[in-house]
Amino acid sequence: MIKIRGLTKDYGLNWALRGVDLHLKPGEFVTLVGPNGAGKSTLLRIVATLLAPTSGEVSVGGWPFPQHAARVRRHIGLVSHQSLLYNDLTAAENLTFFAKLYQLQDIEDRVERALKKVGLYARQRDTVGGFSRGMVQRLTIARATLHEPDVLLLDEPYTGLDQEASQLLDSLLQQESENGRTILMITHDLVHGLEQCQRIAILKQGRLVANIKSADTTPSEFLDLYTQHTRSNHKKRNPKRQRTKPGEAA
Ligand code: ADP
Repeated sequence: MIKIRGLTKDYGLNWALRGVDLHLKPGEFVTLVGPNGAGKSTLLRIVATLLAPTSGEVSVGGWPFPQHAARVRRHIGLVSHQSLLYNDLTAAENLTFFAKLYQLQDIEDRVERALKKVGLYARQRDTVGGFSRGMVQRLTIARATLHEPDVLLLDEPYTGLDQEASQLLDSLLQQESENGRTILMITHDLVHGLEQCQRIAILKQGRLVANIKSADTTPSEFLDLYTQHTRSNHKKRNPKRQRTKPGEAA
């Protein structure tokens, strides 16, 4: 469903991605972890067609882009740091607005189903400005999946959620996964990220340094693996370190 090959991104001052290969099968749930600055958001923004890569190939559902970016966008739902919701509109008005924007059919039914799915049907007439962070996040998922995309991309969806809201999000994402949605999620929460997914990948300095099935590891084994792979990140940086290109040792 998602194919990434030899992906690089050069922002000018440094290489954020240095040749990443990653494939997600239809319906697969993959978590991407890594230290700050590893290139996770850059990768997600490229897959979301919001950012052009420097080189490499990316396709969603067999459609390569940037050539087919508009078509690809119809197959993608994105949950990023911004909810894109309007605080002064109600939950139902927000979803209706996005349904019209996507030019969807049967808007009333679709909005009702989406609100029920995320457990906010009873709050449909309340304005989003009065919602808790967890409710906003659930409504954001309803917004991002309103057009029934094949792929759901999530950038740190657990940020700012308390335990109860995290658990509600867990079951919502499991439900999306069971419904066959392909999911690529970035998170800093290693244990949580591991529990949720079928495969977990570690990105470090723009390279994938591990890509394993979650069933093949335990949380403590994975924490060890993560520390092992990212340890050099905690070492004191050499200020004279040269800028490296893809293919060169970082
Ligand atoms: P992560 O999401 O893993 O924290 P990012 O993808 O945000 O990593 O960033 C990867 C690298 O690219 C970092 O060194 C960051 O400073 C740099 N970077 C990210 N966005 C930009 C940008 N818009 N312009 C220049 N450099 C950027």
